Amino acid sequence: MSHTIAVDIGGTQIRVAVYEPDSVKPIAHQRTRSLATEPGIYNRLAQAIESVWPKGTVGAIGIASPGPLDPYTGTILATPNIPEWQNFPLTSKLSERFSVPAYLDNDANMAGLAEWQFGAGKGHQDVVYITISTGIGGGVITNGCLLQGFHGMGAELGHMTIDPDGPVCGCGHRGHVESFSSGPSIARFVTEQLKAGQKSSLHAQPNLSAAQIADAAREGDALAISAFERAGHYLGIAVANYLAIFDPSILIFGGGVSQVGDLLFKPFEASLRKHTFHPHYLDNLVITKAALGDDAGLLGALALARMKVT
Ligand SMILES: [Zn+2]
Repeated sequence: MSHTIAVDIGGTQIRVAVYEPDSVKPIAHQRTRSLATEPGIYNRLAQAIESVWPKGTVGAIGIASPGPLDPYTGTILATPNIPEWQNFPLTSKLSERFSVPAYLDNDANMAGLAEWQFGAGKGHQDVVYITISTGIGGGVITNGCLLQGFHGMGAELGHMTIDPDGPVCGCGHRGHVESFSSGPSIARFVTEQLKAGQKSSLHAQPNLSAAQIADAAREGDALAISAFERAGHYLGIAVANYLAIFDPSILIFGGGVSQVGDLLFKPFEASLRKHTFHPHYLDNLVITKAALGDDAGLLGALALARMKVT
């Protein structure tokens, strides 16, 4: 039995951890600033892995990275957060350097896999994981398998079209659920309404955050409340579509925006009930928050590597 190395590549930091067989507690852990827009990110990553390399044998390296990527070839396609990595063959470079197999998938899929194996989704076979922060990402477990798809690009739940005439999404297309319900989309709506003359305790500012809007909503600000109602409404439409496709037994919500609680989830649940094709989808459906927090990507990378070597 050998050790597993898990890697979580984020915009601000790279985390690397070493796990003994059957354990989810790392025996070594390293955080390095990713400086994602500066050259040399691959070398910073490789050095971080070297710095935790254990004395015993290593079976595999698992990696969670922002996408889009191809998990089957281990190639980062063109991730906007890391401009240096265009069609970058990450797993083959790491396998060559460290002489062990390496496996890669996108961070939202990995968080969903981790929540299923070790977190809020334990014991379920049909899981839809949705992370809402600067974007909206998804991970889907269906019949006890991680859904990856033909191109390895399945479960991009944030880029489901809800209104083809809707706002421009982070990806450049119009009306995806991310363009209504992500943190920046909620802030953009508030800013537009302020510019149109809506009264509010909030002021138009470049870095207006969903957390600031949530604070205003809790103090009764009507515009802030309506911004979350709108985000929840469109999220409910999207999730009604996910129910029709995947018929999950549990919906798990991660990401910073999910932390606002009822402000988003009350209108979300009302919208979900309204737009679900059949009420039977909702019978015994668990709707819950993610359990693993910041460790989800790392633990998903661990689960992926173990899945591949056993
Ligand atoms: Zn999109």
